[in-house]
Amino acid sequence: RAKADGRGTYRFFETGMDARAQARRLLEMDLRAALQRDEFQPYYQPIRDVASGRVVVFEALLRWNHPQRGLIAPINFIPLAEETGLIVQLGEFVLRSACTDAATWPDDVDVAVNLSPVQFRNPNLIASVTAALTVSGLPARRLELEITESVLLQNSEATLTTLHELRAMGVRISLDDFGTGYSSLSYLRSFPFDKIKIDRSFVSELATREDSMAIIRAVTGLGRSLGIVTTAEGVENDAQLELLRREGCTQAQGYLFSKPRPASDVALMLERPRLRASA
Ligand code: C2E
Ligand code: MG
Ligand code: MG
Ligand code: MG
Repeated sequence: RAKADGRGTYRFFETGMDARAQARRLLEMDLRAALQRDEFQPYYQPIRDVASGRVVVFEALLRWNHPQRGLIAPINFIPLAEETGLIVQLGEFVLRSACTDAATWPDDVDVAVNLSPVQFRNPNLIASVTAALTVSGLPARRLELEITESVLLQNSEATLTTLHELRAMGVRISLDDFGTGYSSLSYLRSFPFDKIKIDRSFVSELATREDSMAIIRAVTGLGRSLGIVTTAEGVENDAQLELLRREGCTQAQGYLFSKPRPASDVALMLERPRLRASA
């Protein structure tokens, strides 16, 4: 194949690989330094109870405050942090920060933290969750851990043990981005999740696609029957919120209420039902 493409093409391809590998190495060095320099910061996005409108949870969403490049979204550094294993340290930082911040919020407002599958495989996970709770003084019942289906695909015995250990501590477990991966109903049977987060893609198509509506109806119904809270992600307008309310979805999260903002804006987000200005 390489031969058929001709020598020029092949060499061009090699040069391209080199540049990419180099960019990757640079980003990796940058990531390590950023951890030392304290450039990471959790932002928080409110999740509201649909029936009462009350803020019940803030989800911690990591941002990299880069001195030259400005605010960097997780899609641009989490994958490399996962490949290099740096996500373990980064994840511990998020856990500690989120628990410490949440300990200063009203007692009926919880915090949700995303866990990477790599963190999940790390034997220190239970210890670092315990440490974050102990150091911050946050009661375990106020911490939610969000995992995606990909966690469940790997070594299910060990995964189930870890999930059960976390739950025994009093921490709650959410299934994030439900409907995007290899969504399997058997996951809901093999592990008692506390919450299902319906992926944003279904919510954004709510008004325009009947099949999205049908899926939301099915998942909220399933949640109700199984006693699992359902949260809709990516709610951006009143029409979507109204449809979700009608289907009995428990909670809603999205730009309609607020974008993720720094911890210093939590009081503001608790005060105002809507805060649409970007952050
Ligand atoms: P996620 O956990 O599903 O988080 C929700 C994402 O949707 C966030 O993107 C949030 O800003 C965005 N979002 C919320 N409401 C709306 C809306 O109404 N419209 C639109 N268009 N988007 C909305 P963000 O902050 O860029 O994070 C992306 C993903 O990165 C997260 O998806 C999560 O998988 C990952 N992530 C973020 N923080 C962490 C972290 O601390 N650790 C790990 N392992 N992953 C993280
Ligand atoms: Mg999440
Ligand atoms: Mg999600
Ligand atoms: Mg998502």
